Amino acid sequence: MFNLFRDLRIGVLGIQGAVSEHIESLKKCGAGYVAVRKAALLDDLDGLIIPGGESTTIGRLSGLYGYQDRISAMAAAGKPIFGTCAGLILLARELEGQDPILALMSIKVRRNAFGRQKESFEADLQIPVLGEEPYCGVFIRAPIITSVQEGAGVLAQFQGQIVAVRENNLLAASFHPELTDDLRFHNYFLGMALQKAV
Ligand code: GLN
Repeated sequence: MFNLFRDLRIGVLGIQGAVSEHIESLKKCGAGYVAVRKAALLDDLDGLIIPGGESTTIGRLSGLYGYQDRISAMAAAGKPIFGTCAGLILLARELEGQDPILALMSIKVRRNAFGRQKESFEADLQIPVLGEEPYCGVFIRAPIITSVQEGAGVLAQFQGQIVAVRENNLLAASFHPELTDDLRFHNYFLGMALQKAV
């Protein structure tokens, strides 16, 4: 079967977190993929996913091992980057109560925003760029986007809180698209990568 995404090489930042789940989703979409466990691998990608996990750990190790400058260079070159949950936290230019990490997206983020008793839940979301069918958002100790500056557009909200945004080549979601069978979010990101690659 002809596959549009076959020639793309998409990296999943492999430092910590839901790495293999994102790889599975990329496989199902028919895209080329690589788990990025060496910073130099970042130089040769058509796009990058920064997975959920623990943002403090991913942030610290990515700084220590030379990933951060290369990720910033990818963003500056217009390569698509998709941050999910902890990945979104890494991308934010402002974090409540702490210094930002990569500081690439014009958003302000509050970590662990849904509180303890609701650490984990699923909710149907309306995401117009993915079509009319509701999208199941899996939220695990999820952050919210408390404000969006010029340049960033809101893609989804949950109970009045912003939970997905896009700013040019950067895409971010509070929830975990790799933990559902619905491939629409990954396909949307791969579409961004394809546009950039042609
Ligand atoms: N609470 C985590 C953090 O602040 C993010 C949780 C997740 O990625 N599922 O890093």
